[in-house]
Amino acid sequence: MKSKYGPRYYKPDFMDMKDHWAVGTQWPVEGSRGNNYTVEWTSKGFTCDCMGMTMHGKCKHTRAIAERWQQACDPNFALGA
Ligand SMILES: [Zn+2]
Repeated sequence: MKSKYGPRYYKPDFMDMKDHWAVGTQWPVEGSRGNNYTVEWTSKGFTCDCMGMTMHGKCKHTRAIAERWQQACDPNFALGA
């Protein structure tokens, strides 16, 4: 039986993820129950191999990574650092 759950992506709108140099970068993330997940930056957006992303297309792991990127890209944040 074919799975009805295709690959899902979280695509923040603060930056263009396609053709970005970070495409293909993976981050290991520790889940709240001690599980380990992998967040990957793809040309379609962030993806994660946890249940939340697989089933619902959203999870806190991808959001956490995206927030870090958003802060890093914010010139005000960079100046204050
Ligand atoms: Zn996740």
